[in-house]
Amino acid sequence: MFSSLKWKLSITYLLIIVTIMTLSGFFLIKSIRNYYLNNTKINYLTQANILSNLTAQNLNSGNTSLRSIIKNYSKQVNARVLFINRDGRVLIDSFGKEKGLEGEILTFEEVESAVKGESRAKIHYIENGGWVLYVAVPVFAFQRVAGVVMFSASINSVMENIKEIQWQLITIFLFIGIIITLISFMVATYINKPIGKLTRAVNRMAKGDLSTRVKIYTKDEIGQLAQAFDKMGHELERYDKRLKSFVANASHELRSPLSSIKVMVESLLNEKEPDYKITREFLTDINKEIDRLTRLIKNLMELTRMDKMKELNRTEFNLTDLIEEVVEKLEPLAKQKQLTVNIRAPQNFEVYMDYERIFHMVANLVDNAFKYNIDNGVVEISCKREDNNVVLTISDTGIGIPEENIPSIFERFVRVEKSRTRESGGFGLGLALVKEIVELHEGKIEVESTINEGTTFKVILPDVKHG
Ligand code: ADP
Repeated sequence: MFSSLKWKLSITYLLIIVTIMTLSGFFLIKSIRNYYLNNTKINYLTQANILSNLTAQNLNSGNTSLRSIIKNYSKQVNARVLFINRDGRVLIDSFGKEKGLEGEILTFEEVESAVKGESRAKIHYIENGGWVLYVAVPVFAFQRVAGVVMFSASINSVMENIKEIQWQLITIFLFIGIIITLISFMVATYINKPIGKLTRAVNRMAKGDLSTRVKIYTKDEIGQLAQAFDKMGHELERYDKRLKSFVANASHELRSPLSSIKVMVESLLNEKEPDYKITREFLTDINKEIDRLTRLIKNLMELTRMDKMKELNRTEFNLTDLIEEVVEKLEPLAKQKQLTVNIRAPQNFEVYMDYERIFHMVANLVDNAFKYNIDNGVVEISCKREDNNVVLTISDTGIGIPEENIPSIFERFVRVEKSRTRESGGFGLGLALVKEIVELHEGKIEVESTINEGTTFKVILPDVKHG
């Protein structure tokens, strides 16, 4: 239980607070005590000095008048007052001749210091009398110490006051301590709550529930972490969906040619006396299906390679040459449909891109422009520089793409009306690859299409090096 963050935080706070409060309390109490006692000492020293001056002035007026001065003063300052000679013998005691110490010799260090000319004030604790302040002040006459005036005052009430203040301080500190402890516990609980929520969400996600969200929208670090977690969850879910549909689509695409091959092989095997013409026809179809399978696997491998290798292998090459090479490679298809292909590109069009991938991209777009064109149609391919970009346009006069299908044609295995394109052999992977290549080059692709009029694909790629 104490290993949880909440407790760790609370105990740390508590230790810090207790240490700070104990130290500051200790110093506060000490300075208050010193302040009070020093004040008392100064007060009595001042009084003793006044009396010392008075005594000095009345030294020659005889013991009786001195005695009455001292007695009066004793009442005034509420202390026992002694007049002591240089030998330490008490000459006058405000307590009177009988009850007092008159005639006795005192050996207090305060008296000894005062005889040497130094005033002294010291606190003593006496068994039955409690706290007592002794103040001894020299009496100067004719520039020499003629005697000592000594005060002995009970300071029990001062000590009581100090004690009272100490208890008040301790109570206040305890109260503050308890309040701060409660607040720190509440703060720790408050901080810990979203962390607990986040931990539970992470555990749920680790068990496979990708729809888990934390939904903490605070702006602090924990809120930011929670929002990043939710975003990650969203991406994972999207990725998972894509992966599942990719696997389902890929398996489906792989299965259909295999089923056709199996049906044809089985009917050939069931033929007791195989007819050469029919056998040849079947074998031709099987061969076509095998070609289709091979193309599908090649496309899948290319996609996987693209997913794995996100690094571009940029080199400098002539884009116009690349376009011409692509068109040349696909010429049989153009010829079959008697298409007119126009290339509008500068002779030397140097770009710094991934040659292999750009070739693949142009080949896929041109292949589509040929595949989905009408007989005797036209294909226009152009490239130019525009605002630090390379703009490549491929237009055809083909069947066009319905507007509602345009947003999805770049997804894997998406084909518009499978029946119309089935014979042309598309798997719906070409444009997915094109999009990945464009994004790897940090560019974008736009489509404009009108049914039965034609389609234009516009690829805009940042012109690295030349721009
Ligand atoms: P496919 O391998 O089927 O050609 P693509 O990913 O290249 O797959 O294209 C996805 C779908 O978009 C195609 O099936 C086709 O219906 C449509 N399409 C792509 N290019 C064109 C085009 N130039 N004209 C008309 N339709 C097109």
